Order: sequence, then C-alpha cells, then structure tokens
Amino acid sequence: MTESSTPSGMSPVPGGAGARLETRHERIRRFLDEERPATPCLVVDLETVRQRFAAVRDALPRAGIFYAVKANPAPEVIGLLVAEGASFDVASPAEIDLCLARGAAPETISYSNPIKKAADVAHAYARGVRLFVSDSEQDVRALAEHAPGSSVLLRIVVDAVGSTYPFGKKFGCAPDMATDLLLLAHELGLRASGVAFHAGSQQLSTRAWDGGIADAATVFGKLRAEGVELTTLNLGGGLPATYRGSVPPPLADFAAGITASVREHFGDRTPRVMIEPGRAVVAEAGVVRSEVVLVSRKSYTDDRRWVFLDIGRYQGLAETEGEAIAYPLLTSRDGGATGPVVLAGPTCDADDVIYQNTRYDLPLDLRAGDHVDLVNAGAYTASYSSVEFNGFGPLAVHCVR
Ligand SMILES: *Cc1c(COP(=O)(O)O)cnc(C)c1O
Repeated sequence: MTESSTPSGMSPVPGGAGARLETRHERIRRFLDEERPATPCLVVDLETVRQRFAAVRDALPRAGIFYAVKANPAPEVIGLLVAEGASFDVASPAEIDLCLARGAAPETISYSNPIKKAADVAHAYARGVRLFVSDSEQDVRALAEHAPGSSVLLRIVVDAVGSTYPFGKKFGCAPDMATDLLLLAHELGLRASGVAFHAGSQQLSTRAWDGGIADAATVFGKLRAEGVELTTLNLGGGLPATYRGSVPPPLADFAAGITASVREHFGDRTPRVMIEPGRAVVAEAGVVRSEVVLVSRKSYTDDRRWVFLDIGRYQGLAETEGEAIAYPLLTSRDGGATGPVVLAGPTCDADDVIYQNTRYDLPLDLRAGDHVDLVNAGAYTASYSSVEFNGFGPLAVHCVR
C-alpha cells in the first residue's frame, strides 16, 4: 500500500506518453528549482495544454472544440488555445471578456451556462456572442429580448452514470420540455439550433454519452416534424484526466463511443457536433507545489500521522471534497520508507481535511518545510481558490513553456 508517493504512480500511461510526461515534469521541476516560487502555487506547462488540446482535436476531428474556461482560466492558457484555434465555453460576462481580451473571436464563444441574468445576456450580445445554451422558459425569453436572433441550444438533463463528478439535476430540463422550449425560441425569432447535455465530469465510461445522444435525436426528430431543422449537438464536457487509482480509457475510445452513438441515433443526418472539454485539456498540465506546515500524531496508538500542508480545500483543492479526486503525490523525500497519513489543509475549518479515507502513504521522515507536489492538478484548482479565507490567499499560478 505504498502506491501514492512513488513516481510510477504519476505516469500510468505506458509507452511514448511516458516520455512526454517526463519532459513536462522536467520543465515544471526546472522552473520550481530555479525560481523557488512561494508556496502554495500551481505551475502550468503550456506545451502540455497544447498537446492535450491537439489530442482532443485529433480524436474528434470534425467536432467544434469549446474549451471550458472554468477549468483553468489562466490568461496564458486562454491565449494559447486561441492560437491553437479553440473555441470557448463560458459561464459569465467575466469569462467572455477574458476570452475576448486574449484574442478570441466572439463567434468562437458559447455562453453555455443556462443560469444567467438578463443583464449578462445583454453583455454577451453587446460583445458579439451569438450562441447560448438555455434550459428554462425565462431564459429563452430573456435571450429573445436581449440577444435577438441568436442561436439557442436547449440543455437536457441526463443520467450521469460513470461520472466521478455528476452534475445532478441542477442543469437541463426533460427532453419534452426542451422540445417545447426550442419551438418557443423559434417562435420568438431566435435560431433554434440544437440540444446540449453534460454526461458528468471525470467520466470514465466511454458510452456515457449514449443516453443523451439518443434523447437529443428524439428532440431533433420532434422539431423536424414541426418544420424546424436543428443542426447542432453539444456533448458538453466530461472527458477524463488521469488521477491516482483511475487510469481512464484513451481519448480514441471516447471518440469511438461518441461517434458510434451519433451514427446509431442520427443515422445519415449527422449533426454538427460540439464538445466542451475542460479537465481533459488542462489537468495533466499542472502541478501544485505545497509545503509541509506540520507533521503530528493524535494519539500514541494511531499509526497515522497528520500531515498539514499550506494548501487545502480553500486554496484550490475543492475537488477533494468527498475525496472525489485523488491527486498523485510526490514529495521532496521520496525513496525511503513510508507510512500512512491523513492529509489536511492549514485553515481553522474542520472540513479542511484533504484525504482521510483515501489511503496515502508518505515518507516517514517527512517534516515541516518539505515539499509535497500534487500532480495532474491543472484543472479546477486555481479557479476554485477562495480570495482569502482565514487569511490564506488564492492559489498563485505560474505558466511555463
Ligand atoms: C464544467 C463544464 C464543462 C467542462 O467539463 P469537464 O468535465 O471539465 O470537461 C463543459 N461544459 C459545461 C456546460 C460545463 O459546465
């Protein structure tokens, strides 16, 4: 049970990809060694972002690839993806302005958050955004009023079996309601364009998109019967990254599953496909460097040490809630004997415990001042960090090339 702290735990992809992993870790390591940035911080390897985006594009060459900005909104990441020809999935006026400031064309932006104020819609429209995702009558009417003539996708709720991070029922509506709302959008002068769904984040099942694609095809058929030809199928996010204990199937398998489902349910009437990867593009590009604040024991009988880091739930490790995401760890003392630990953050909040049920073993000689690196942590870390809970600032981000 010592898998957690060994370097092999972070390079589970065999063959050529292993060499690539080493290179990216060498670049990040060199930056950390030379610059010695204050901890905690996230170091993002831009070359890996480029490669991961290219891998998604190569797997789904005919799909529009809309990077989900919330996964990692570092301006350098956005700028690089603009240069690579990506489109963008945004959720707020600030994300729209970020993409535009880094050179994205408004036509490459999808406002994919169904929860928005009328003023946010007006902001997007004024900036040239003409593609929106909706899931309610109020929002469709707001789009008709504040973004007239725009394209609208209706989000349907789907079963997210296989997802490490399901979205539950917060987003989307039932397919029959989506059908009616697309007709309403059409009547209100909007362009009723298609259907969107999200099969849940960190989706490990390559067939998880099938149910949503089937339901979308039904909606397409109903609209066609009403004389409205939908064009676009938005498959949302969910493509997974590699974490400890979960080596996902290769991207090609997801692409094959998606392509097979589209063919099965749409036949020859192939829709224009959009996909909105977030995690799959940036997770593996990032390493979080943290420092050990304290190593302690809680009793003479419990052999688990408590290791407190200078990063926790509020500085960017939000996805360790429920211990859903288990980052591979490396320490500056790897190589010797290890023993079990509970890992916790530095704040005075009782929930600020990172891992207590997931088994991690760290070096027995680990002590205050040592480094603990969280690997494959480029997604949903910096963007989740609080402004200053308990006086601990947000996670600093450094990008390396
Ligand atoms: C968060 C989100 C995504 C990205 O999801 P990943 O699992 O990171 O790929 C895509 N689309 C929408 C609408 C989202 O909310």
